[in-house]
Amino acid sequence: MTRKRIKNFSLPASLFVLGVLLFSNFTNAQAAPSEAPRNVIFMVGDGMGFGQVKAYRMYADDPATDIIEPLPVDGLMVGTVATDSIRINCKGLEAKCTRDPYGVTDSASSATAYATGADTVVGRLSISTSGEIMPTILEQAARRGKSTGLVATSQITHATPAAFGAHVISRNQQNDIADQYFDRKLDGKPVIDVMLGGGLQYMQREDRDLVSEFRSAGYEVALDSSELLAMKGDKLLGLFSPKGMPRAWDRDDKVPDLADMSRVALDSLGRNPKGFFLLVEGSQIDWAAHNGSVAGVVSEMEDFIAAIRVVLDFARKNDDTLVIITADHETGGMSLGRDGTYAWNPRPLHGMKATPRAMTLRYLAGEESLADIVAENVAFKLTVSEIELLNAAAREEDPADEAIAAVFNQRTHTGWTSDGHTGVDVPLYATGPGSARFHGVMQNEDLGRVMWEVFLPE
Ligand SMILES: [Zn+2]
Repeated sequence: MTRKRIKNFSLPASLFVLGVLLFSNFTNAQAAPSEAPRNVIFMVGDGMGFGQVKAYRMYADDPATDIIEPLPVDGLMVGTVATDSIRINCKGLEAKCTRDPYGVTDSASSATAYATGADTVVGRLSISTSGEIMPTILEQAARRGKSTGLVATSQITHATPAAFGAHVISRNQQNDIADQYFDRKLDGKPVIDVMLGGGLQYMQREDRDLVSEFRSAGYEVALDSSELLAMKGDKLLGLFSPKGMPRAWDRDDKVPDLADMSRVALDSLGRNPKGFFLLVEGSQIDWAAHNGSVAGVVSEMEDFIAAIRVVLDFARKNDDTLVIITADHETGGMSLGRDGTYAWNPRPLHGMKATPRAMTLRYLAGEESLADIVAENVAFKLTVSEIELLNAAAREEDPADEAIAAVFNQRTHTGWTSDGHTGVDVPLYATGPGSARFHGVMQNEDLGRVMWEVFLPE
């Protein structure tokens, strides 16, 4: 009967059927769970919106050529992420929660959405709205025998990395987070194999010395750049500052870059034949944007993009690696061009010897003139009104930060609408096996869920 039917088809109808068959084969191939990636590298530029990415692209441009050189991520853009997971506001211990569908997220709830595939209350880390522990993709990867790692330029106990390896009601419980990194065990061993970043003061405290505990448990420990680069083992703990690491442009030789930490993590994790999950965070794009500091943003974007180059290089050599790059939210409402001026100017940022953060710290430490400090660290000549503005700043953190930021924002024509987070979508980049599942506008919890489905199929 089937044969007869086919025989009776007119030529165009046969072609149509053939077309449908070919098309359905094609769509089946697309929809079928393709070979799961062995490794997933998830990279988060904290606070990295389109303004932050473009500011760095313009800064990194080679003015000697006719084009604006693309960034290594530019060809990998697949869509955007809507980070405004339903903001669940709870008050008091007898938590009465209201859901705001239009709320703006924080790093804790957004990282929880990525780590677990579900929303939770702002400020909470991988604990559900009803107070239960939410399993994370990192923990599940470990249960499958994969290696796991966290790399960040904030303290390693900060919200974004912590959402993947700890469970607390408040992101401020950083000592508890540090304790959990050691105490939450799988087969008698800490779950996370590689931890590199800042945060020594949370790991080495009066009440507990987790650094020695990790050492006794077989971890190699590095406290500076040369110790990091000498690491060879499978279990690594690197802590390169008491809290967050210095901004990229402010680091000395003892403090590694995000690219160095990523390379060491990949060398170590890449040896597991079962694969690995690695989170790499450019943590302080957000911190600089909270300060309205365009120079700080560019410093941290430079650090993050350099780490992306290392990761993409690894993924090229290991084509069973899925790389996903995005942000947890935008910070600052950063715009290139402001106040009716049709221009943005990266030139004042070239030749800087330090970020405004370091300049403020020098001023707070007692150096006489803020204008002199700024003048020493930039390649342009300050105007009389800029010198007056800087020297009028009180010797306190906020006024000093704001005065320096004002100079750079004026000169570069950078605008800011907030000193906090904003609800605009953030860029989404993906490459490697499974990357076709990431496209369009994705909610952050959907991105987390799809990452889990692709990486750790049932
Ligand atoms: Zn923030």
